[in-house]
Amino acid sequence: MKSNQTKSLYFNILFLSVCLLTLSCSWDRFVISRVNESTIVKAKAAKELLDKDKITIVLTGTGSPLPSESIQNSTAIFVNGQFLVFDAGDGVAMAMEKLNLPVSEITSVFITHFHSDHFADLGEVIDRSWLLGRQKPLTIHGPKGISDLVNGFLKSYQSEFYYRTKHHGDAVMPSQWKGAKTNEFAPKSDGSSKIVYEKDGVIVYAFYVNHVPVEPAVGYRLEYKGKSIVISGDTADSEFLKKQSFGADYLISEVMNKSMIAKIETAYDSINNSRLSKIMKDIQLYHIDAFELGNLAEEAKVKTLVLTHMIPFVSGYVQTKAIYKDPIQKVYHGDLIIGHDGKRIEIPLP
Ligand SMILES: [Zn+2]
Ligand SMILES: [Zn+2]
Repeated sequence: MKSNQTKSLYFNILFLSVCLLTLSCSWDRFVISRVNESTIVKAKAAKELLDKDKITIVLTGTGSPLPSESIQNSTAIFVNGQFLVFDAGDGVAMAMEKLNLPVSEITSVFITHFHSDHFADLGEVIDRSWLLGRQKPLTIHGPKGISDLVNGFLKSYQSEFYYRTKHHGDAVMPSQWKGAKTNEFAPKSDGSSKIVYEKDGVIVYAFYVNHVPVEPAVGYRLEYKGKSIVISGDTADSEFLKKQSFGADYLISEVMNKSMIAKIETAYDSINNSRLSKIMKDIQLYHIDAFELGNLAEEAKVKTLVLTHMIPFVSGYVQTKAIYKDPIQKVYHGDLIIGHDGKRIEIPLP
């Protein structure tokens, strides 16, 4: 009897060991295949985006400071093998990784102004690009104040940078490439633009926009091989934006439906929430209304208008049509793209 029990125990142990070994082998195979798969997917995405025969715009964040399902404002542009980022609102660093963008290839970030929905994730963009293998300088371009902002981030990331290199070693995490440098410029207040970036035929101009009392605030115009892309930044309806958008292939613009925001203002008023009512009133002063944007794009002969930073955020065909599409298309006859996070636009080059 005792001998039978011992045999059964041995058998059970043997059976369990075989099961564990099989399970462990299949886990090994699973992990190896997932790592391979993800590496192949990322390499393929990077190759496509860094392809020099086209420009690719990726709307990495189309949100605003108001709560929504979207990442805060940011736009990635891949041009002539360069990865340029315009604004870096909250959540964009992780969003770029989820979209398989080659974050270690970022060479320049352009900040439009110092509202946090445009720079909150700048520290993460600087840090993650380095952690993921950036071995080239990163420059943060922006109007006066950008150096203070970047230096603040660099100071708060000091320990993070130190621990990473100490743990993984300088060969893996070279301290030479941590952080970022800045290119601070003063936009011209007469509406003309100035070159703030020029590399291998890619030129980025900055121009002043009206987002008073936020000063300075700028928009950017990128040009390459006869193609032009304008990023509005945050702005009220303005002659400056119209002038700089003239003939643009793409105008990527913020937009507000002011009659909707006015309704929200009245609703807060009706429940005696004077604080939120005042905020809703104030924000209408420094953003561009959908109808105004339609007019501006039509008069500037913009070929394709792309909406981002939509206030209020809406989703679904019916709402989007009523709040943005209809008022814009009343006056604008070019192509209209209602942006959403992850939207890609490819521009073939001649
Ligand atoms: Zn904003
Ligand atoms: Zn703003």
